[in-house]
Amino acid sequence: MEPKQFQLGDVVQMKKSHPCGTNEMEIIRMGMDIRIKCVGCKHSVMIPRAQFEKKMKKVIRSAAREEEGSSM
Ligand SMILES: [Zn+2]
Repeated sequence: MEPKQFQLGDVVQMKKSHPCGTNEMEIIRMGMDIRIKCVGCKHSVMIPRAQFEKKMKKVIRSAAREEEGSSM
């Protein structure tokens, strides 16, 4: 399996949804552990990087690309 690409500020989709019903999480801190914040209820959790990579499905919004392309 390929290593997943993600960075600080990205919003990712998790394989399992949060009890509040949202499965989108924002990466708010990166290090040996990763802190993610639930987009729905703003609850934040800190999990080991390896565990995060297993639990996340994909990056929905990249922080680096958020500013461009909003021509709607
Ligand atoms: Zn939540």
